[in-house]
Amino acid sequence: MIRKHLKGTIRQLASIWCQPRRLAHSAPKEAPKMPELSGKVAPQPVAQAAAKKPAKPGKDAKKGGRVKIPPPKGSLTNDKTTFGPLKDVDRIFQNLYGRHDWRLKGACLRGDWHKTGDILEQGPDWIMEQIKKSALRGRGGAGFYCATKWEFLQKVKSEKVPKMLVVNCAEGEPGTCKDREILRHEPHKLLEGILLAGVTMGCGRAVIYVRNRFYNEACNLHYALAEAYHHGLVGDSACGTGIKFDIMVQRGDRYLCGEETAMLNCLMGKLGRPRRRPPFLTEKGYFNHPCLVVNAESLSVLPTLLRRGPRWWTGLGRSYNAGTKLFCISGQVNNPCTVEEEMSMPMREIIERHAGGVQGGWDNLLAVFPGGLSTSLLGPEAAGGVMMDFDCLEAAGSGLGCGSIIVMSKDCDPLAVMHRTIEFYEEHTCKQCTYCRDGAIWLPELFGRFATGQAHPHEIDWTSVIADTIRNSRPICALGISQAVTADSMVQMFSEQIKERIVKYAEGSQ
Ligand code: SF4
Repeated sequence: MIRKHLKGTIRQLASIWCQPRRLAHSAPKEAPKMPELSGKVAPQPVAQAAAKKPAKPGKDAKKGGRVKIPPPKGSLTNDKTTFGPLKDVDRIFQNLYGRHDWRLKGACLRGDWHKTGDILEQGPDWIMEQIKKSALRGRGGAGFYCATKWEFLQKVKSEKVPKMLVVNCAEGEPGTCKDREILRHEPHKLLEGILLAGVTMGCGRAVIYVRNRFYNEACNLHYALAEAYHHGLVGDSACGTGIKFDIMVQRGDRYLCGEETAMLNCLMGKLGRPRRRPPFLTEKGYFNHPCLVVNAESLSVLPTLLRRGPRWWTGLGRSYNAGTKLFCISGQVNNPCTVEEEMSMPMREIIERHAGGVQGGWDNLLAVFPGGLSTSLLGPEAAGGVMMDFDCLEAAGSGLGCGSIIVMSKDCDPLAVMHRTIEFYEEHTCKQCTYCRDGAIWLPELFGRFATGQAHPHEIDWTSVIADTIRNSRPICALGISQAVTADSMVQMFSEQIKERIVKYAEGSQ
């Protein structure tokens, strides 16, 4: 009954909103400038849309646009033009596939905990200086400069309650399996990174949030943490420096807990759903403790970066997109895998070298999510020339996200994939924000009709109207925006297939 009533309301509202109908597919005048690379990069509709409507700081940021954050002062640059494959000597995660001992003995043989005490004795300012020079960017999705973000907490004075570092190992994004590999095969890298980052920010303790269903991974982490305490690597005098630093592990489960305020709510025993800021986490995050949430991969690369220096780090990848990155390749490829590669390596080369290529060959490629479900789709031409780094993918109208490449070949039914993808958001919205909640009801209904061909052609434009409405509504967390971006990009990419399906259905029913 309620559903029937909703359908009627949707139709009425959409017919009002569509006057005058938005020209969602009108061709823009200028294509975005792509970074130069061996292959040519053809601009896609999505990239063109991005060029047409660049995010402006302030006004657009409120509407869901991205504010461009400048790199930290003193960041090193390079003038490299070719990227990847990564040499073994530059590999940070040497036990990514669990072929060696993940316990302390094996980790120490691979260089973990080497002279960590000496690094700590250099002082927080020296460590922060190295992070600034390296222009390290967060590996969790947003690509924020770590030094800029971490300095927020470093500058907070908190004498009554210690500052806290919260480590994000929630990893619920479809197609992503990198933090999980770190937890089960490289837990000591993570613990060492937490200690270094925590001390740099002036924290006294850290909490690692691990997803509940990562049972074996949490067991390995607990074991590694016990080893670290037993050998004095953390605790009352971490690595013999006299610095007190404690780490604890807490578990919870919900996709939305990957969002930092939802995660903190969950850690505090509340319902795991996002909350509006202020108060900001650096003021009052975990109970009354000022805190910051940092992704596991960003922390795990830190010890090697500090040991080898920012010059080495910025020698990998393009300027301001430096270092190595874990890429998770899934979908219709011959060999789905998680692999560490140099940043800025061409996407096509990563897929062909590590995942055995697209099923049926590169010409069989239909589209790619370059950074997980929440990033805009790229067509075969753009995917053939784009480099896997923050700036190049942003220029192409998409994003690096968490580095999860999800491949769709021409053998799949793109409209069924669209429907399933948008249902994912329906399952995970927390229903606090009206437009995110309503979008999560309407979009799956629309996409279901697209998949069967029972939609009306003008409903294709409704998606853009709904997506824009969600974007402009200032939802509390990024899930609302992700839903809008994904829906819009999928409809723009597959509008021809939707029309064909509608015609087919109409012909079949005549
Ligand atoms: S945007 Fe969606 S998921 Fe995020 S808080 Fe609002 S309703 Fe919840």
